[in-house]
Amino acid sequence: MAEGAVVGIDGSRAWQERAEAVIPGGVSSPVRAFRAVGGQPRYLVSGHGPYVRDVDGNAYVDFVLSWGPMLLGHADARVTEAVEQVMRESSSFGAPNPAEVLLAEEIVRRYDAAEMVRFVSSGTEAVMTAVRLARAATARNVIVKFAGNYHGHSDALLVAAGSGVATLGLPNSPGVTPGAAQDTVVVRYNDREAIEALFASRGHEIAAIIVEAVPANAGVILPIDDFNGFLRDVTTRHGALLIIDEVMTGFRLSRAGWYGLAKPAWTPDLVTFGKVIGGGYPLAAVGGRREVMSLLAPLGPVYQAGTLSGNPVAATAGLTTLLACDDAVYEACDRAAASAMTLIDEALSIEGVPHRVQHVGNLFSCFFLDEAVTDFDIAQRQDTAAFGRFFHALLEHGVSVPPSAYEAWFVSSTHDDEAMQRFADALPAAARAAAGA
Ligand SMILES: *Cc1c(COP(=O)(O)O)cnc(C)c1O
Repeated sequence: MAEGAVVGIDGSRAWQERAEAVIPGGVSSPVRAFRAVGGQPRYLVSGHGPYVRDVDGNAYVDFVLSWGPMLLGHADARVTEAVEQVMRESSSFGAPNPAEVLLAEEIVRRYDAAEMVRFVSSGTEAVMTAVRLARAATARNVIVKFAGNYHGHSDALLVAAGSGVATLGLPNSPGVTPGAAQDTVVVRYNDREAIEALFASRGHEIAAIIVEAVPANAGVILPIDDFNGFLRDVTTRHGALLIIDEVMTGFRLSRAGWYGLAKPAWTPDLVTFGKVIGGGYPLAAVGGRREVMSLLAPLGPVYQAGTLSGNPVAATAGLTTLLACDDAVYEACDRAAASAMTLIDEALSIEGVPHRVQHVGNLFSCFFLDEAVTDFDIAQRQDTAAFGRFFHALLEHGVSVPPSAYEAWFVSSTHDDEAMQRFADALPAAARAAAGA
């Protein structure tokens, strides 16, 4: 479906004008507006496998993939057919249904640390619920998070966040009350001493540490020397809970997400899922130890609810996606990511553009600087203008990557040799643009 460079974008311009009149910034989520890189966002109408097409008929190799959910590529026939069948029998009941049970069973089967799960509609909600559960379980208020980690847009976690907050350079958001922010303590990622010191002085107040399994909302930043295991140890010693946020990594990095890849000998108390488990539909989940999950109403006193939670269409899409995610799918994704990383590295090296490609499994990003990125401060030293030029040259050559230097890139099992060749063809010009030539 993909052939040739982008010819015109008048259609996208026209839609943007209409959108801006009725939707703030013309978008339903801020990074989509291209503010960090400038230029005209594309209005998309279709996607098949590794390609998307805009309203003007231009095709792009897609490394955004709805920010991760489309692990099987766009419009996977198995998912589409399963969804079509369910839809004919109604799209929502607001009552228990078999689809959500089947999905819960599959998640519990794959992910040892999730003994039970509760479904919600977004990663933000999953994290909100995890935080509420942790506070209820410990009768403490303080939540510890890491600078540059993103956990959705709930008040308590919008402090020093990654993703769009980092992209747009918003340190903290107006509208978050001092009360909501004061119970959140932000620590530099990978900083063990800071964590030890914090727990030494305020350990009795801390309900939980929340951490991205591998931070990937400020670019991909790796945990050094089993940092997650260290956090497990500290929280256990101080009677706090450990919440591992696998909204992005869950079921993307392996059959059991980061947890399945790292195979730690310990378990988190709570874990959050989203993105891949909805197969491209609005579905997310919080899971964890039975004892903690049993605090949720109606078993326990912690209230949490949702009109569309466990929606049969979304649950069916998620289940069909997970069932299709066999070893071959993860191998194909890992291969595609490895090849993309090599191509980027080669192209930027030829032009002498300072860069650093970092990855965990098939999740990767490219920082435009020349040192290892181990925390958010270092990530912010990169040359975002060089990234912007790289981004636009790729887009003009029919390759769509996240419109921010602070986001991971995503591949699917359908990113085949042909898609990679198109990417390879676009790269020399993009690398020259990044070099400022
Ligand atoms: C995307 C993301 C979220 C938020 O999920 P939404 O569905 O966008 O609300 C939370 N945590 C992490 C790690 C994410 O990547």
